[in-house]
Amino acid sequence: MVIDTAFRRTKIIFTLGPATESDEMLEKLIRAGADIVRLNMAHAKHDWTRGVIRRIRAVSARVERDVAIMMDIKGPEIRTGDLEAPIELKAGEIFDFTVRPGMSEGRGGGDEEVRSVGVNYQDLAKDIKVGDTVLVDNGLLRLEVLEKDEARIRCRVLIPGELKSRRHINLPGVKVNLPSFTEKDRGDATVGLEEGIDFLALSFVREAKDIELLRAFLAEKKSKVRIIAKIEDQSAITNLNEIVAACDGLMVARGDLGIECPFEELPVIQRRAVRACLAQGRPVIVATHMLESMISQPVPTRAEITDVANAVFELADCVMLSGETTIGKYPLECVQMLDVIARRIEREVDESWKEPAVFTGERMKVLHSAVILANELPRSKLVTFTRHGFMAQGLALLRPSHAPILAFTPSPEVFRQLRLLRAVEPFLMPLASDPNDTIENALGVLRRAGRIVVGDRVVVATDILAQDRLVDSVQLRTVR
Ligand code: PEP
Repeated sequence: MVIDTAFRRTKIIFTLGPATESDEMLEKLIRAGADIVRLNMAHAKHDWTRGVIRRIRAVSARVERDVAIMMDIKGPEIRTGDLEAPIELKAGEIFDFTVRPGMSEGRGGGDEEVRSVGVNYQDLAKDIKVGDTVLVDNGLLRLEVLEKDEARIRCRVLIPGELKSRRHINLPGVKVNLPSFTEKDRGDATVGLEEGIDFLALSFVREAKDIELLRAFLAEKKSKVRIIAKIEDQSAITNLNEIVAACDGLMVARGDLGIECPFEELPVIQRRAVRACLAQGRPVIVATHMLESMISQPVPTRAEITDVANAVFELADCVMLSGETTIGKYPLECVQMLDVIARRIEREVDESWKEPAVFTGERMKVLHSAVILANELPRSKLVTFTRHGFMAQGLALLRPSHAPILAFTPSPEVFRQLRLLRAVEPFLMPLASDPNDTIENALGVLRRAGRIVVGDRVVVATDILAQDRLVDSVQLRTVR
């Protein structure tokens, strides 16, 4: 079967930052094929957020390519406090994390010999045990807990280095009692909803309940924004299947996962997570360090090329850039590189996913028959009509072997959300009252766009009016 090379099946997400926030660079990345822009709220103020969302929309409109926006809220994140100046921690040094507000930092905690820093989580001393590991700044600094009381946690420095202000703390294996959806998250999400974001990514999801809390908040706001669960620690791995079932999409957040879990487990976790999503019909994003060396160099390492290829071979929906596009010197080259690698690898993959999946419901069975038909026919294309995105998502999760899924929706919001799904190419078009007119209109759009040519076989999955009710149907048409 010949894969449709006119478009890339694997979607590209990039994280916005100083390197990419100008209109000029946004335009370049959108033209280069980026599908979703991610806003990391760890570093964003509300005024900036509102301004940048409006600019992304304006640039998208100008280049006539509407990208989706994903707001990444920080969840239960523990950080060190402010320091007047960075502290150089030495191997073997005794160092305190102070949890009582008002305790002096830098030096003190009542003990003049021991240097210290505050943390933003007062109950840390309750959750942590003697012998636990404290990792600071993406694991660059490692400390071991020696003793604790209600005011401080006393540690020994195992891996030395420079400690700066407001650094992220990881506590591998420690069950932290912080709320999953914090006051800050609520404020950030409210701004996002007011500005019309498309996805909310929740950091450090530990169990399905975390997602339900966010869903209740979205229901209160009458929002249809889709929830992406970021799995970043060991609890998320333990509860993987229930998290996949509860979310609208999953992000394998390898940055934190690689710190919270033994590093050799990371590829195993990635593969399990992608498969769990395929089995339960959820889109999945492989994130972080995909082209890390391109932060400072114009070409990736061979290992990075293979890592991106691996995500495409695994049939992930999206690959994601973080530091490469926030602070990197070559953000455009990174998007172009993902595009080239994904297109090449997609020609090698038989996408039809052979493992048994649990597809319940008649609609999925009808969609399955559409995909079987498309898989049988060389040069076939799948066409579907989707008001809420579910028809397109159903087809995408069945991973057609070579046919693209050309998905028509009348909703600009659904159009943008379809950017997340592997092999789905969205089109914005009003649906006619007669389903047959809708199909003819869509074929007209595709003909004019050069996406179908005479002789192509088009498998249409849609609902049609039968007597007085809508029934799901599969039709085979030949383009004339
Ligand atoms: C990650 O840890 O891989 C990730 C995407 O999360 P963040 O960038 O928010 O740390």
